[in-house]
Amino acid sequence: MTIGWYFNNTYSKLSETFKENIKPVPVTNPDLVILNKTLASELDLDFSKINKEELSKIFSGNLLPPGSNSIAQAYAGHQFGHFTMLGDGRAVLIGEHTTRSNKKYDIQFKGSGKTAFSRNGDGRAALGPMLREYIISEAMHALRIPSTRSLAVAKTGENIQREKLLQGAILTRIASSHIRVGTFQYIAARQKEDELMTLLDYTIDRHYPEIKDSNNKPLDLINLLIERQCNLVVNWMRVGFIHGVMNTDNMAISGETIDYGPCAFMDTYDPKTVFSSIDQTGRYAYCNQPVITKWNLARFAECLIPLINKDQEKAIKIATESINSFEKIYEEKWMNMMRDKLGLFGLDDKDKFLILDLLTWMHEKKADYTNTFCHLMNIDLKKVELYNDKDFINWKKRWEDRLLKNNGTLEKSIELMRNNNPLFIPRNHKVEEALEAAEQNDLKPFNKILEVLEKPYDKQEEKEDYQYPSISDEKYQTFCGT
Ligand code: AMP
Ligand code: MG
Repeated sequence: MTIGWYFNNTYSKLSETFKENIKPVPVTNPDLVILNKTLASELDLDFSKINKEELSKIFSGNLLPPGSNSIAQAYAGHQFGHFTMLGDGRAVLIGEHTTRSNKKYDIQFKGSGKTAFSRNGDGRAALGPMLREYIISEAMHALRIPSTRSLAVAKTGENIQREKLLQGAILTRIASSHIRVGTFQYIAARQKEDELMTLLDYTIDRHYPEIKDSNNKPLDLINLLIERQCNLVVNWMRVGFIHGVMNTDNMAISGETIDYGPCAFMDTYDPKTVFSSIDQTGRYAYCNQPVITKWNLARFAECLIPLINKDQEKAIKIATESINSFEKIYEEKWMNMMRDKLGLFGLDDKDKFLILDLLTWMHEKKADYTNTFCHLMNIDLKKVELYNDKDFINWKKRWEDRLLKNNGTLEKSIELMRNNNPLFIPRNHKVEEALEAAEQNDLKPFNKILEVLEKPYDKQEEKEDYQYPSISDEKYQTFCGT
């Protein structure tokens, strides 16, 4: 029976420095919870003829597909600003699968047992957080934001010890690669130029072949990453996504969102929003995400200094210039994104005031970020009294005048807005509700939220309760590394 795996593993062929050869640790009683059939077919994989018992073995790592060559990858990272040696402590990359259209994807198990990089961890993951990553990563993809994807979750049949005993599970994660800023930090810390060159060439070959013949590959790579990461963080800001743990090991060189730990979506607009219980200082708050992106990019540039120019001072100067271009690039992309959210065509001197005044109003009035834009798109909502506020009405008049500039029409503006403003985001209490039921073997709410989030920009009948934040005043908190 052919599933259609076509492995062409390249990372595992790199020297021992980069990885540990290791197999997933077999589990006692594998039980498939969910398989993403849509994603499977995008990957040219066909699981339809495989029975559940076999699927459970496959997605728990008990039965490795032919052609896989599993490894744990080495990396380092700045965690909340502090440099640490890390690596896949609870994940194994089983191989790189190539689709018929020649796209290459890492197939990784997360929660698959101890590796050389596990430190004090048990190498395992709990069912709730793995299903949470499944929901949010798939939601991000549907929101048209680059992201790792989730192919499957299987329970291990083993309990794991956290604050209490929890059901163990393994997530099958798909990524265009798992090379991180932290991978470069790990290699750079070893101070062997040939290893750094190997990683640079590998990365360019895999992600940025357009610069493989350039005169200064490391510098071009820095500039490309600045561009990609700016695009990514602007997209996060667009939908109110808060990553929560933007350590350098959680920033992918591909420009995909990676590592859905304590992330969550903002309801009420407040730039200082933080959900993660361990982010005491608000380092990774909503409004800090661009600042941190730049900080992480600077750490990336530092790694490449020895390859940019033999003269270290010169190399630092060149790299610094690139990093300092961040603000201008970000600002322009952010302004354009906000113009799209507001349906504005062309540029106008006063756009920035118009945008900032709306955000200030939303902050002051504790307005829901997503639903304010829905209101502007004339989507029917409950609780619209807030928008009868006189300041909002005055702002709206200014906005309506601006809409008609540059040959704009209301129809064209609404269309632009509908493509950029989601009606549905993963509302925190709905995510929790789905996870709680799934822990009790009831997958109905889990499947329902997945269905809603598949089409975040579309009106959906009888799904209204997914459009609103929780009515509870209790602050939503998320947890890391569980
Ligand atoms: P994260 O916060 O998920 O980005 O993880 C940071 C580091 O901790 C990575 O090196 C992970 O592999 C490692 N890690 C997280 N949870 C565990 C665990 N249960 N066992 C071993 N390593 C872990
Ligand atoms: Mg991580």
